[in-house]
Amino acid sequence: MPAIEVCSRIGRAILNGLLPPRCIGCGAGVAEQATLCAACWTGIRFVGSAICRRCGRPLANVAAPEPICGACAASPPVYDRARSALVYDDGCRRMVLRFKHGGHIEAVPVFARWLLQAGAELVADADVVVPVPLHRWRLMARGFNQSALLARALPRTGGPRLAVDGLLRTRATDSQQGLSATARQRNITSTAFTVHPRHCAAIADRRVLLVDDVLTTGATVSACARTLLQAGARAVDVLTLARTDRPDRVD
Ligand SMILES: [Zn+2]
Ligand SMILES: [Zn+2]
Repeated sequence: MPAIEVCSRIGRAILNGLLPPRCIGCGAGVAEQATLCAACWTGIRFVGSAICRRCGRPLANVAAPEPICGACAASPPVYDRARSALVYDDGCRRMVLRFKHGGHIEAVPVFARWLLQAGAELVADADVVVPVPLHRWRLMARGFNQSALLARALPRTGGPRLAVDGLLRTRATDSQQGLSATARQRNITSTAFTVHPRHCAAIADRRVLLVDDVLTTGATVSACARTLLQAGARAVDVLTLARTDRPDRVD
C-alpha cells in the first residue's frame, strides 16, 4: 500500500475517533465521515436527465430532443440555464436544513460533488462563479453564507474564477419560507441586489454561474440574474443543490 494512502487511512481513523462520523442527513452514527445513512439515501432523489433544458425542472415526458417545460415555453426565464442536483422533497429538506440552520458544513464536499455532477457543463462554460448573497444581518446571525460555501467548494483549477462577494444584498428581505410564488416575487426584486463595484469589470461581458442552495420559484435567482445582466454580464446560468419539481416559476 502506498505511504500516502497509509497516512490518509491513519488520518481518517484519527478523525473518526475524535469526531464520530454522523449521517449528513439526520445525524445518526455511520461508518464514514461525510456520508448518508441507508435510510437517508433512500429518502433523497437526484434530478435525472429528463429535464427542461432552460429551468432544469424534472419532466415526466421528454420525447423532444430539446425538451422545454410549459412555463419556459410561455415565458423564457431571465437566466440561461438552471441545473440542480436533488429534488427538494422531505428527505432533501431535512439534510439542507441541517446544513443551513444546524451549521453542519461537513456536508459541503459531498454537496459540491453532487453540484458538479449536475452542472458540469455550466461550470465548464462559466467565466465567473458568484454565490447568492445573504444580507449582512443574516450573515452575522448564521455565521456563514451557505451558497458561498457551495460556490467555494466547486473546483476552480483551470476553471472559472470565484467572486464570492460579486453580488451584495442591499436590502434585508423577509425570509422566503412559507411565502406564495407571488409574495416571493414581491418580497425580492432586483433592487435587493447590486454588483460589488470591485467586480464590475470581472462580470462585464462574462458568463456568470450563480450558485444557491435551493431553487423554489426562482424569484431570488431571477432577481440576481437580472442584476448581473444589467451590470453587463453576457449570460447567467444557475446551479443549486436542490430544486422543487413544481411548475410555479416566477421571475
Ligand atoms: Zn441519515
Ligand atoms: Zn423550464
